[in-house]
Amino acid sequence: MDNIIVLATSNQNKVKELQALVSGFPVDVRCLKDFGPMPEAIEDGATFDENAYKKAVHYAKILGLPALADDSGLVVDALNGAPGVYSARYSGENAADWDNCEKLLREMAGKSNRAARFECVLSLAVPHGPALTWEGRCEGRITEQRQGAAGFGYDPVFFYEDFGKTFAEVSMEEKSRVSHRGKAMQEFATELDKVLAWLKLRMSEVKPAKPDHAEFEHNDWSA
Ligand code: IMP
Repeated sequence: MDNIIVLATSNQNKVKELQALVSGFPVDVRCLKDFGPMPEAIEDGATFDENAYKKAVHYAKILGLPALADDSGLVVDALNGAPGVYSARYSGENAADWDNCEKLLREMAGKSNRAARFECVLSLAVPHGPALTWEGRCEGRITEQRQGAAGFGYDPVFFYEDFGKTFAEVSMEEKSRVSHRGKAMQEFATELDKVLAWLKLRMSEVKPAKPDHAEFEHNDWSA
């Protein structure tokens, strides 16, 4: 199969989620683990868009293959959009999910406006830079205390009205049907035939690497 798309994540749940969505299409979804160690992308963008694109193009360039990356996080109205792009490190570098939730509950103490949303941006980039983007959002509210033990990140404090539960109280399948990442991935999968046509065109523009040393190009092997 020649339609390889590398999912720029080491999170196996994301790989499985995407593989399930695109099953039936002629796409071979690989993950970073299939290629061995690589330098990590620097996620220092100011928006989810920027970070998703930085990751996608970073790995597409290294691998010479189309790469799909996501960036996501929690946006809380009463905190002027925080933690936003800092969601993973809200309570410090290499912060644990537990500590991030604790900090969020502290910051939200006494606040009556508890509206919040998860946002996700997916970026599909080819090695020379062009990219496509999809977005997904999921509205909810921040609870007063943790509820549930499933999921990850802010799931125990994110209450989803239609479920009447937090994301940490439902299965991964239930969550994926309505979640920011699930919606963005579903849109990607819906448009996959167009995406594959775009990829074919874009990848045909990628020139094989040429040696840039005249010395190498003009070597005289007969000597
Ligand atoms: P990532 O960049 O998609 O890995 O997510 C960045 C951070 O946003 C994670 O470390 C979580 O703290 C938070 N986050 C993103 N998506 C979710 C979710 O579905 N549930 C809970 N937290 C999430």
